Amino acid sequence: MTRILKRELDEDRFSRLRLISWWDQEKIAKCRLLVIGAGALGNEILKNAALLGFTQVVVVDLDRIEESNLSRAVLYRAEDLGTFKAESAARAYRSLAPNACVQPVVANVVYGCGLGLFEWSDVILAGLDNREARLWINRSAWKVNRPWIDGAIEGISGVARVFLPGKPPCYECTLGKVDWALLEKRMSCNLLTLEPTVEGKIPTTPTISSIIAGVQVQEAVKLIHGLPTLASKGYVFEGMNHTSYVVEYTENSDCMSHYTLPQIIHLDESSDELTLGTLLDRARQELGPRAVIEFSRDVVQKFKCPACGAEEEVYQPVGSIPFEQAKCSADGQLRAVILLHMFSGEPELRDRPLSGLGLPLLDAFIARAGEQEIAFIPYGDAPRVLGALVAQPADSTPVKS
Ligand SMILES: [Zn+2]
Ligand SMILES: [Zn+2]
Repeated sequence: MTRILKRELDEDRFSRLRLISWWDQEKIAKCRLLVIGAGALGNEILKNAALLGFTQVVVVDLDRIEESNLSRAVLYRAEDLGTFKAESAARAYRSLAPNACVQPVVANVVYGCGLGLFEWSDVILAGLDNREARLWINRSAWKVNRPWIDGAIEGISGVARVFLPGKPPCYECTLGKVDWALLEKRMSCNLLTLEPTVEGKIPTTPTISSIIAGVQVQEAVKLIHGLPTLASKGYVFEGMNHTSYVVEYTENSDCMSHYTLPQIIHLDESSDELTLGTLLDRARQELGPRAVIEFSRDVVQKFKCPACGAEEEVYQPVGSIPFEQAKCSADGQLRAVILLHMFSGEPELRDRPLSGLGLPLLDAFIARAGEQEIAFIPYGDAPRVLGALVAQPADSTPVKS
């Protein structure tokens, strides 16, 4: 009786969800969701998130929509062919959830997303098909103390798993020898990308992506309500015989992922406004004269040809450069790669703006002096990455629909 009365008084888009005893629509509306991958899994993740009332969402994907995506992507239409998945997915999300603020980021998560994007989020949901990206997400999520929920599918089977920062075992702990061999195979000896990734070529169906993404988003909902989740465990669904089980992982005490940044400072300036010199000065104000600036990832500073001696400035993250680009245009020789991973005051780099290093926007620059460290993020770039989401604080009152 009271239930019927409440429904009549409070009938809106989410009224049936609110009938679940523990449901808190505000918690969902306030949650900042970072969805990485807008393929088969990403589509189902986003569809579920939109229907459930997540209103603050960033969707990351580098690729464009191809015809083969249309059999596994509820958000895409034939007229979207050739458009960026992130942009079309964001548009479709807004049509399902008109009150939502959804920001597309057209980027590869490993080379094109700064740590500040992970830090912005409350929960990270990943729908990817390669270990390299998962490993990067895992390490990034730990650094900024954010949970992430992974999904993987192949054929008509799949797995969903939840990883909480600071609480091993983590994704990297689950990697075995075969995984590491495959991860290393992607990089040649001089750290350039040797083979194109096989992204999007794994056989999958919309039925299994629906099942696994459903579990992922449901785990996210439970997580933000403080309910027990699949933390450090995997839910495995095997579609041929309908067997499912929960697998437990074991911690690897040598795991490289188990690290959280002690302090993050948002700088008002953008990466165009700050030079390495001014950032180093700021770092030395905080940590003393021995402080140096470390980059989030190694940067290929230049190529040097062993045959003709010519040098070429590059400034792109390691691993993002195709192997062919390393050959000298004059004589075809494979050139040496000169890497940069930190700045300690070298005069020729002092006036280089942070945006001139080839690192993604909202990336973290680590000021270090011995054991002490502070991560600086040039937050003047935030509107370029987060769009209107910048104006939506985490504690804002959600709009009722
Ligand atoms: Zn680990
Ligand atoms: Zn040459």
